[in-house]
Amino acid sequence: MSPHALPIPDLPTGLYIGGQWRDAADGDRVEVFDPATDAVLTSVASGGPADGRLAVDAAADAQEPWAATAPRQRAEILRRSYELLVANRNELAALIALEGGKSRRDAEGEVAYAAEFYRWFAEEAVRATGTVQTAPNGDKRILTVLQPVGVSVLITPWNFPAAMATRKIGPALAAGCTVVLKPATETPLTALAVAQLMEEAGTPPGVVNVVTARRPGPTVEAMLDHPATRKLSFTGSTQVGQLLLRQAADRVLNCSMELGGNAPFIVFADADLDAAIEGAMVAKMRNAGESCIAANRFLVEAAVAEEFAVRLAARMSALTVGPGSDPDNDVGPMINARARDDIAAMVDRSVRAGANLRSGGVVEDGPGCFYPPTVLDDVAADDPILANEIFGPVAPVVPFTSEQQAVGIANRTPYGLAAYVYSKDLARAMRVAERVDAGMVGINRGFISDPAAPFGGVKQSGLGREGGHEGLLEFLEAKYIAVDWGV
Ligand code: NAD
Repeated sequence: MSPHALPIPDLPTGLYIGGQWRDAADGDRVEVFDPATDAVLTSVASGGPADGRLAVDAAADAQEPWAATAPRQRAEILRRSYELLVANRNELAALIALEGGKSRRDAEGEVAYAAEFYRWFAEEAVRATGTVQTAPNGDKRILTVLQPVGVSVLITPWNFPAAMATRKIGPALAAGCTVVLKPATETPLTALAVAQLMEEAGTPPGVVNVVTARRPGPTVEAMLDHPATRKLSFTGSTQVGQLLLRQAADRVLNCSMELGGNAPFIVFADADLDAAIEGAMVAKMRNAGESCIAANRFLVEAAVAEEFAVRLAARMSALTVGPGSDPDNDVGPMINARARDDIAAMVDRSVRAGANLRSGGVVEDGPGCFYPPTVLDDVAADDPILANEIFGPVAPVVPFTSEQQAVGIANRTPYGLAAYVYSKDLARAMRVAERVDAGMVGINRGFISDPAAPFGGVKQSGLGREGGHEGLLEFLEAKYIAVDWGV
């Protein structure tokens, strides 16, 4: 496919630094693929360490004037960005479906979700309020003001290429921080499209910079080592997050980390099973299971486990699998062949270990990185598939016999991002929600993402929160001023 076939024909493919679109210093470029066909879509500039440093320089130059810009004015730019994202939703959704392999419906949902972060943080920009109090011994006033952290390096994954960018850029700009965004190598085009729209919305040069990179390691290291960088906000795997936390330690950078998950989806026998199946389809199949909050382990009370698995398998098998460019398809390809092969290996191992394959599980020949919606049941509580983030359309069903056992299995993981509980007994659902190790819990619902709510994890799923008022605070620091004002 030629670059002219992209849904946004005039999309720039350079680095965006200081308000200019430019080539990498060494002229390097990296190809972008369509995972549904394996075809090369186009290429983008691949920034190296020198480009990373240049982008931080640009963000540093813009930092003071941006922090001094009235909150209302910063808010208006975010509001205009929201409106432009909404106005361009069809083109953006088509681009996300193309480079990320998402179904068209999921891509449209992502654009709406991404845009909402700009609307929410436009509203939050004028609410960074401090406090004033009298010291306990009465000798002074204690003023606490909130100030922008400063230049922030933002790193995003491929699975939500628009929303993970706006979930960071929105609060950063609202707080008065300038940013360098390093999008995932697999999905750079969406990030460039978002930057282009923000330019159109009147974002001053240097406030938002974007550096795409073939080899993210050295480029990001150069950005984190830059003396002007004050913050790292990362979304991605726990493994890369751990590596970046170690690098960030050298300069004691302020860090927000949104990492991997392994969400339990707990269904008690007294649950409304129709609602549980609906919720399971959303929690499992949004973005074909390539979501950090995807239900990864279905823990179902033994009395209804088989019925649940049979009904889920019927619904999963009815989904149509194919390229996201065809709006009739429900499930797109995995991001690349390695991801598909890893999922296939996990399922095969689980079946060899005794799990029952209810549906799917067989990779068809042909182009593209497709994996079929798959249900496994009678999965043993110690099956290795339960220890990993599957990141694909696979639902392992594990029977349990008591609330205590369900919570024990749910918490038997180093992760703690999302969890889901289905029961008509709200007291029990609340009890389990409070005992489960997770930053977010859905009770009798499978869809929990909301820009107005704090999103984030405990244990090895991360540090800090995005969205809500908490998301703004991640980009602010408290300064205490002791004042004698003479009364
Ligand atoms: P990844 O960790 O491989 O990559 C994430 C980002 O880090 C990409 O931009 C990548 O280019 C960059 N990166 C990779 N290696 C790097 C290095 N050595 N130095 C600096 N940067 C590097 O993750 P992914 O495969 O893109 O995304 C999937 C993962 O993201 C899953 O684990 C998923 O759970 C997680 N995720 C978490 C959330 C959340 O909010 N908690 C949201 C979405 C995705």
